Amino acid sequence: STGEKYREMSVAEFFAKNKELAGFANPTRALYQTIRELVENSLDATDAKGILPWIHISIRQIEGSEGRGGRPRYTVTVEDNGIGVPVTSMAMAFGKVLFSSKYVIRQTRGMYGLGVKAAILYGQMTAGTPVEVYSATKGSQYVYMMKLVIDVQRNEPRILERGEWNKRGSWHGTRVTLSLEGDWSRAKSKILEYIKRTAVIAPYAEIILETPDGEIYYFPRSTRKLPKPPRESKPHPHGVDIEQLKSMLRSTRASTLREFLVKEFQSIGDKTAQDFLEKYGLDPDLKPRELLKKGRDKLLRRLADALMEYPFRAPKSDYLSPIGSDIIEIGLRRMFNPEWVGAVSRSPKAYRGHPFIVEVGIAYGGGIEARSEPLLLRYANKIPLLYEEREDVSYKVVSSINWRQYNVDFPAPLVVLVHIASTKVPYKGVGKESVSDVPEIEAEIRNAVQEVARRLRLYLSRKAREEEAIRRSVT
Ligand code: ADP
Ligand code: MG
Repeated sequence: STGEKYREMSVAEFFAKNKELAGFANPTRALYQTIRELVENSLDATDAKGILPWIHISIRQIEGSEGRGGRPRYTVTVEDNGIGVPVTSMAMAFGKVLFSSKYVIRQTRGMYGLGVKAAILYGQMTAGTPVEVYSATKGSQYVYMMKLVIDVQRNEPRILERGEWNKRGSWHGTRVTLSLEGDWSRAKSKILEYIKRTAVIAPYAEIILETPDGEIYYFPRSTRKLPKPPRESKPHPHGVDIEQLKSMLRSTRASTLREFLVKEFQSIGDKTAQDFLEKYGLDPDLKPRELLKKGRDKLLRRLADALMEYPFRAPKSDYLSPIGSDIIEIGLRRMFNPEWVGAVSRSPKAYRGHPFIVEVGIAYGGGIEARSEPLLLRYANKIPLLYEEREDVSYKVVSSINWRQYNVDFPAPLVVLVHIASTKVPYKGVGKESVSDVPEIEAEIRNAVQEVARRLRLYLSRKAREEEAIRRSVT
C-alpha cells in the first residue's frame, strides 16, 4: 500500500471547499455575489421572457448575530415577477449544484447551474440556515414554498418544510430568502454600483433595494421598451467537439446521417448536407448509432473534423439578445446626465462557432466627473462586471485607445460602456467577473469603440468651432 487515502468528492462538496472559485472568497464578496446571483436569476426570469422586470431586494442585518470572529449575519430576500419555477423542479433548481434550465443554446445571464446554489451553500456554512423559496408559475393555481438545505456529501436537496396555497390574483414570480455571514459596510459600495449599473442597461426594470441601514434605493422604470427575448437554438457545427457529437448521435431521432445533420444542427439545410457528405465521402444513409459502435472511432473523428472544417453559413444570432443602441443611450442619459451620448450595436460575429454581438455606448461631459482615464462600464450578457477590471478584454482595448485622436484630453468626463452578448461568453472563471481576450471579440470591441468615438470627435470638433466663432464675435 502507498499509504494514500482515496475517496471521491461531490460537486457540492467541491464548491463548498473552494468557495472563492464561485466568487465567495470572503464575507464582503459573498454578500455582493449573493445579491448578484439572485438578481441575475430574477432578470433571466423576466426580461429574457418578455416580462417587464420588477425586482425587490432586501438586505437586513440579523440582530445580535455576530458569529464567529464577531462577523455579522444578514438575511437577503430577492423577489421578482418572473416566470417562476415549476414545483417539480424547485427542489433540484435550488438544492443540486449543476442543475439548470439554462443548459441550452440561448443567451442568458446564468449558464453554469451554480449561482444560487453557491450562495445557499455559503449561507448554510456561515449561518446554518436553510433557503426559503416561494414561487408561482404563470399558469399555476398555486403558490409553492420550500425550505431546504443542500446535502453536501450527496449533492441533493434535503427538503425541511413545504407548503402550497391557492393563488389569489394573478401573481407569478419567485421569492428567495437566505441568510449568510457578510460585511455590509465593505460590500455596500460594490452592491450599490452593481445595482446602478444594472439599471443603466435595464432602464425597463423597476428595482427597489432596501439596505441594512434602513435606506431605500429606488430605480424607477424609465422606458417600457424591452430587448427582444432570445430564442433557443441548435448547435452550430463549428462549435461541436467529439464528445458533444457522440451525445447528439446517441439521442437523435434521425435515422440517417443526412437527416441527423439537417435536424440537429443549425446552418445545415438539405443542399448543404448533400454537398458536405459528398465532399468528405460520408455515407448519407449511415445510421447515426452506427458511428458509436466499436471500431468506428476513426469514422467518427473524420466526421467531427469535417464539421469543424467545412465552410458552413455563419451562426444565426436570433438566440442572442443585445440591449440595443437606443436602450443604451436611454440608460446612460438617465444615469449620468451627460452632454453627449452615442451608442452602437454591431452586427453578429462568431468565434469557434459561438455567435456574439458587441455593443458600445459612450457618454461625455455634463454630469460626468472628469477622471484621468475613461470610466469603463463592462457588461457580459447584461451582467455588470465589477471585479478583475484589468484582466478583462474590454479594459485591454479601451485603455489602449489613443483618445487624443478623438479630441479627448485627459482628465476628461468620459464614460465607455462595453457589452458582450454571446451564447458562450468566454469568462475567465465561474465567478464571471472578467472576459478572456479572444481575438475575434477583441477586434470587435475595438471596431465598436472606434465607431462611436468617431461620432464623439465630430461633435467635439463642431462644438470647438462654434465656441471659437462665439469667442471671435465677442472680442
Ligand atoms: P443558472 O442561473 O446558471 O441556471 P442557478 O443555480 O442560479 O443556475 O439557478 C438554477 C435554476 O433555477 C435556473 O436555471 C432557473 O431555472 C431556476 N431559477 C433560479 N432562480 C429563479 C427565479 N428567480 N425565477 C425563475 N427561475 C429561477
Ligand atoms: Mg443563476
